[in-house]
Amino acid sequence: MQITNSKNLFEKAQRFIPGGVNSPVRAFRAVGGDPIFIQKAEGAHIFDEDGNAYIELINSWGPMILGHNHPMIREAVIKAMENGTSFGAPTAKEVEIAELITSMVPSVEKVRMVNSGTEATMSAIRVARGFTGRDKFIKMEGHYHGHGDSFLISAGSGAITMGNPDSPGVTKGTAKDTLLAPYNDLNAIEALLAANPGEIAAIILEPVPGNMGLVTPKEGYLEGLRKICDREGIILIFDEVMTGFRLAKGGAQELFGVTPDMTTLGKIIGGGLPVGAYGGKKEIMDFVSPAGPVYQAGTLSGNPIAMAAGLTMLNYLNEHPEVYEALNSIGSQIVTGIKNSLIKLGLNYTLNHLGSMYSLFFTDKEVFDFASAKHSNTALFGKYFQAMLQKGIYLAPSQFESLFLSTSLSHDLIDQILQANESALKEIH
Ligand code: PMP
Repeated sequence: MQITNSKNLFEKAQRFIPGGVNSPVRAFRAVGGDPIFIQKAEGAHIFDEDGNAYIELINSWGPMILGHNHPMIREAVIKAMENGTSFGAPTAKEVEIAELITSMVPSVEKVRMVNSGTEATMSAIRVARGFTGRDKFIKMEGHYHGHGDSFLISAGSGAITMGNPDSPGVTKGTAKDTLLAPYNDLNAIEALLAANPGEIAAIILEPVPGNMGLVTPKEGYLEGLRKICDREGIILIFDEVMTGFRLAKGGAQELFGVTPDMTTLGKIIGGGLPVGAYGGKKEIMDFVSPAGPVYQAGTLSGNPIAMAAGLTMLNYLNEHPEVYEALNSIGSQIVTGIKNSLIKLGLNYTLNHLGSMYSLFFTDKEVFDFASAKHSNTALFGKYFQAMLQKGIYLAPSQFESLFLSTSLSHDLIDQILQANESALKEIH
């Protein structure tokens, strides 16, 4: 496989962009080799600057639920652009998408659009603090909520991949208000509450974390958090930037039947354009300016092009529940195939899976939290990643990420993925 153009671009990029990329994991540092520069994407495939095609299993880290460059989204964007690209003033589409989101996501009675998942979580925490008058919040080890200062403490995703889960530049003053608990452990939460009585504004978590690889909640865990928050007057925030509109129309909260007080969203609600949102109970959201005193704003928030793309995507998902059947079926076919190959090859690796998200961990131990995810052999993952890339399958370039499937994966493509997977596993052992 020739990757000369990508190599040349990366060399040049490193002269002008820190590390040559605009988001760290893209540099392939954790898996070795140079990153592939992408020229275009269509359906289940992305194409690099050297003309190589790859079957996509990241899908822009989630949003391309229907595959890349879907004609419906493309047309909506082109049509919206005929009217101008930004007004910095209210539009009809913002009202329409807000109404739609509140009808789809159980916890959301009012919603504010922002431009990224990072903004959504930063804003949600500010509102939770303003509403409760308390400063501290609990976050789970290995969960990632974007790059806001107070979240870069034991952070997953690129932060752990690059070896910086606690980023320099975050002040001690900020860090002291972020309390850490292991995921899936209610006793640890109780211990933090006992040590910080009446001081905790919020518990924020990825209900189904994908940023330390995919991990699923133990039975009763999310329900337990809900009960604790009710008892203590703590705001429960589900960060559904990855899981929203993917695990179910109403996200993980619908799937598990646990309704948080606030929810953060991103990615899919922009149909692939830069969008995030946070929402929740009316009385909490009415604390946001100009309804209330907590300030949060954005020149490009509710951007008309992004709203057109997002609205088209969400309307489609709302009206086509069969999308979720298709995603779940594709997910089980791939995971069953990988399991069969593991058995055939006598390998005992851990495969975590829910709906259209999965992670193959290179450890034989169960992975249920950050500490157990870190048992994985990341060097072996790097070899697996490279072997898959050579076979035309584009995976997330880190052990500590989930994969995201799209409805554009046909039976033939699934077969190709499974064959590549089996020969990659053979090659690296
Ligand atoms: N929360 C979660 C759960 C995420 O997965 C991410 C990004 N992957 C973010 C927040 C941050 O979103 P963004 O990259 O759009 O700022």
